[in-house]
Amino acid sequence: MEANTHIHASDNVPLQDRDSWPNFSQAEMACRHCGEVYYWPEFMRRLQKARRLAAKPFHIHSAHRCALHNARIGGAPLSQHLKLAADIGLSGHNPRILYQACRTAGFTGFGFYQTFLHIDLGPRRSWYGNKKAKQLWQIY
Ligand SMILES: [Zn+2]
Repeated sequence: MEANTHIHASDNVPLQDRDSWPNFSQAEMACRHCGEVYYWPEFMRRLQKARRLAAKPFHIHSAHRCALHNARIGGAPLSQHLKLAADIGLSGHNPRILYQACRTAGFTGFGFYQTFLHIDLGPRRSWYGNKKAKQLWQIY
């Protein structure tokens, strides 16, 4: 199967790939609205590495979004979620350790929010979701 392509939820990814990221299901990485999946093995390998380094479960709030879903929720028009990004819930995590794990795993884009950390493989950049999020993250 070609990497970095959209597939439908009913098309299962190759089994050997799923074994490479045992802590993540296809369903939790799919568009919440329609189940569309963005197949990107390198992203998943890095996500699994971050998960292993953080040594805590990842609760994924949002991963891939189809264009319609992204527009409906007011996502940025060129959001990395249109391909693949992960919003990881902060609950149960030391945010600094979570961030370091994701950096070490090779993620390049970081959005710091009050309840989650956004990670992606887009251009190297970082931002705060809002003023409160900035205050929260600055103490770590
Ligand atoms: Zn959708």
